[in-house]
Amino acid sequence: MAKMAEVKCICGTLFHARAADVARGWGKFCSKSCKATAQEKRTGQNAAYYHRKKVQRYASEYGGNPEFDRRGEYVGFTATFSNEEHDCNKD
Ligand SMILES: [Zn+2]
Repeated sequence: MAKMAEVKCICGTLFHARAADVARGWGKFCSKSCKATAQEKRTGQNAAYYHRKKVQRYASEYGGNPEFDRRGEYVGFTATFSNEEHDCNKD
């Protein structure tokens, strides 16, 4: 049997991973969802994706750019009624 190491996951679960895997930097999480949680914390990719989606939805509904704070709470709105960047000759 392979040599096992006891590992504590970020969720607090104690589990056993192969010692060889731990040495390679594997076996850190008890489940895929815990790995996903840790990865999201590190990269913020998923949150950034949803933030972009939300901005697009507000922009198409209200014709402006919503502002959100770091927690994703809506804080204000910048209307884009100006035609400064619109080039009529291109239509
Ligand atoms: Zn876990």
